Formats: sequence, structure tokens, C-alpha cells
Amino acid sequence: TVTTPPNTYASPGSPDAKVQFKPRYDHFIGGEYVAPSSGQYFENPSPVTGKAFTEVARGNAADIDKAVEAAWRAFDTWKKTTVTERALMLNRIADRMEENLETLAVAETWDNGKPIRESLAADIPLAIDHFRYFAGAIRAQEGSTGEIDGETVAYHFHEPLGVVGQIIPWNFPILMAVWKLAPALAAGNCVVLKPAEQTPASIHVLIELIQDLIPAGVLNIVNGFGVEAGAPLASHPNIRKIAFTGETTTGRLIMQMASENLIPVTLELGGKSPNLFFADVADQKDDFYDKALEGFTFFNLNQGEVCTCPSRALVQQSIYDGFVADGLERVKKVKQGHPLSMDTMIGAQASNDQLEKILSYMDIGKQEGAKLLIGGERNVMEGELAEGYYIQPTVFEGRNSMRIFQEEIFGPVLSLTSFTDYDDAIKIANDTLYGLGAGVWSRNGQQLYRAGRDIQAGRVWSNTYHQYPAGAAFGGYKQSGIGRENHKMMLDHYQQTKNLLVSYADGPMGFF
Ligand code: NAD
Repeated sequence: TVTTPPNTYASPGSPDAKVQFKPRYDHFIGGEYVAPSSGQYFENPSPVTGKAFTEVARGNAADIDKAVEAAWRAFDTWKKTTVTERALMLNRIADRMEENLETLAVAETWDNGKPIRESLAADIPLAIDHFRYFAGAIRAQEGSTGEIDGETVAYHFHEPLGVVGQIIPWNFPILMAVWKLAPALAAGNCVVLKPAEQTPASIHVLIELIQDLIPAGVLNIVNGFGVEAGAPLASHPNIRKIAFTGETTTGRLIMQMASENLIPVTLELGGKSPNLFFADVADQKDDFYDKALEGFTFFNLNQGEVCTCPSRALVQQSIYDGFVADGLERVKKVKQGHPLSMDTMIGAQASNDQLEKILSYMDIGKQEGAKLLIGGERNVMEGELAEGYYIQPTVFEGRNSMRIFQEEIFGPVLSLTSFTDYDDAIKIANDTLYGLGAGVWSRNGQQLYRAGRDIQAGRVWSNTYHQYPAGAAFGGYKQSGIGRENHKMMLDHYQQTKNLLVSYADGPMGFF
């Protein structure tokens, strides 16, 4: 059921709020809420206000042990389920989420700071569709049979790996969880998931809504910090795979831990994505030009806390002055405000640490001689938001060799430069350690196609940006990761292939 959302949602805790967080969240292990072994909890502030609204179990190795054991117990039964049963469960979860769309969206916004219109129109609907996509994909998946010779046949079956570990970041807490959960559960695995310590609460709101649909132990959540809870999960001898999304430096550590147990790893890591605007976008000041200007402004989506944030804009020299002037006008119209107001376009950064990191990169940009064109400071808001983590949309002009062009800032900060011709554009676009996303804007189909193929990135948007439909493979080249999520090919990462080689010959092979 689709209802018209109100102009502003009530803050959690108000009488008419869509979501009431619990004062405290335990781990979710074996279908129950379990207190942390250490007895310790950590406070979770909302980026909207900077004030703690709940406390969360501080997990450690003993909690991970419990969760992995519970998951293996559940696996005995879960591995025998049919794809039809598992698909049905995923579809039911999707339906339940859809019925509670607004609750989940408010929870996500309060925990993460993102504008409610993004959580309502993108994050949660995409998560819902993701469950539906994998419900369909697993049913459509087929084994294969190959005749080796007239009397020998090779049968190939898909089997789940067993218990898998998943570690996720704070920028899209529910969506990142679902990107990992949907394929893993569809394939018949049991999961231990560790959310990010900055955004641990909204996932618990989701779990409370769907827990009756999932057999106990099939999905376990252990909260806590990276070193205390994440590392024991990634290095646990009884997990069969680890899937990670987060920083490239952490990804490297995860791979080392996984190598000890020789288990497969998928990594979704950082990026410094280029957004290329070729001269012909300005041939006419029409709807397409307007669309390109929106593309220029997309670095503000989710406060720039997107691994594919188009954080480097490359504009062709011949249109540079005019296009950039129009682009900056569009950036000025990006409305920052209360994340629960429907007209807010940019909300709060997810944590105080992240706010500090972005501010320090602004200093770095100024020190290395980049020219500040707009923004460049913390946005001190009024009233309830005064201690929230707000940053002005910021644009620096500089050179691609500068740190603000090479290092991931993960905030609403655009590093802008120009290029002369096609070859120059591709050279600058590819001149980074990363290769996650890219955007290309042009009216020329051949140019779009060539650039799409020449840019070294796992996802190149062509005359669009920031669309993440299920079914479109997503992942990194170079130091941006290993593996492709968001597509049925991810099922291969969560399954073993069993080959059964059968002889239908009557007699012996004749060797002995
Ligand atoms: P992070 O690497 O610091 O943390 C991510 C997760 O890893 C958290 O749950 C954290 O607790 C855990 N962790 C941290 N140290 C760990 C350790 N030593 N062992 C095990 N687990 C550990 O990253 P972050 O700052 O939370 O997230 C932002 C990063 O995520 C950015 O670099 C961004 O580009 C990336 N990201 C990538 C994608 C993608 O799909 N490629 C999507 C979203 C975010």
C-alpha cells in the first residue's frame, strides 16, 4: 500500500513517531536477544541531533563464537530447505518490509542522518526489491548435466557453503545488510552479520519486524566494534566465507584473516569516482542540459557518503566556465535541513568522526592550493539540530594529483577539474587507485560507449548516476574490491559446486 508521506516525520520518541527505538539492543543470536558476554554496551547517537538515543551490545569474540555455533545448529535443517521455501521466505520478508516502509525509513534516517526522502524512495524500496530479486534468481537457477562420453555423465549441483560472515559499513545500514543477506539466505547459508558500530539500531528495527519469518539461528546479528567483533568474525575458523563492505585498508586486513582459514572473500571497498561532462552536453540549454547539471550535483546524495560518490567532476575545457557556473547555481539550491523533513535534500554526516574527517580534508584541500568555489565549512544548524553533524556542500577546483582528488573523503565534497579532449578525459578518470564507479555525460552515443568501455570501473553510468537496481552487477576494479553484488552472479560466491560423476557403463574400466 502506498500512502502519501507527511511533509515532516515526527522524531523517534515523540508520541506520533513512526518508530520507537528500544532503550537498549542486545545481540540477536539463535532467534533470541542475547546480552553481550562482556556485559558492556555502547551509546549510539543520532547524527540528526548528536545525542544518544539507544545503547547497543558491545560484542566480542565470545559473542561471535555463540553466534557461529547457533548458525551451524540452524544449518542442519536450513540446508535441507528447497529453493521454493527459501524464495517464499525472502518474498515474505519483502512484503513485511513494504508494509512497514515508513517505519524502516524513519529508523534509517534517525540512525544514519540521511534525508527521509532518500530512505523512503530509494534505500528501503531497493532493499525490498533486492529480496524479491534473489527470491526469483534462486528459483531460476539451474544445475547442469553434461555427457562426458556415451556412458559417463557429470551432474553439477549448487550447495550452500554453510555459515558465512558478513561485515557492513554505516552509509546504507539496511541496504548494505540486505545486499549481503538476500543472496546468502537464498543460496541456503546461515549468516552471522556484524553491522557498523556507527549505525547499529535500524537493523534491529528491521529484525524485530521480520524475525518471525526466519527460522531461529539462520540469521544472527552481533553488534560491536571492528577490532573487537569484526576481526573475530572474519578470522573465525568455522565460517566458510566472509563478505565485507568498508574501507580499502580494512578490506586488506579482512583478506589476510580469511587467508588463515583459506576461505573465499568478497570485498566492496572505497572509490574516487569520476563524473565526466563532454562539451556537447552544453549544445542546447534543454532538459538534457538540466539533467547533466543534476548529475553534477549528485555528489551530495547521502551527504556524499556513498562508495560511488561522483567526487571528481571532469568538465571539458571548451564549456568549463559556463557549465561550472550553472552547476554551482544548482549546488546552491541543495537544501540542507532536518533529515525528517520531506524537502530536505542533504542531511547529517553519519558520525562525529566522519564530520571531523571531512573537515580535515577541507583543510588539506586549502593547504594544497585547491580553490574553494563554494561551501567549505560545518553547517551549524539551529534548535534540535545544533549538535548534529552537518556539512555544507563543498566544491574545490584543483588538479587530479592533489590529495582531495586521490583520497576518499566520503562527504559532500566535489573536486573539480577540466580536460582537453577524449584521451585526456580517460587518462584523468583512470588516474586513481580505485575503480568503483564513474559517470559519463554526452549526447554522442559512440562517445558514451567508448568512454564506458575505456574507464576502469565496475559500474559506469551513462547519462545518469546513482541508480542501483537489483540485477545490475556492482563491484570494483583495482583497489575497489573483489566480486559483484546486486546480481545473480553473487550466488556463485555463496555456493559450492558439487559435481557428481556417474558411470552408466556395464563393465570395468580395465586398469586393474
Ligand atoms: P570501515 O572499514 O572502517 O568499517 C566497515 C566495517 O568493518 C564496520 O562494520 C567496522 O566495524 C568493521 N571493521 C573495522 N575494522 C575492522 C577490523 N580490523 N576487522 C574486522 N572488521 C573491521 O569502513 P567505514 O568507514 O565504516 O565505511 C566506509 C567505507 O565503506 C568507505 O571506504 C566506502 O567507500 C566503503 N563502502 C563501499 C561500498 C561498496 O559497495 N564498494 C559500499 C559502501 C561503503
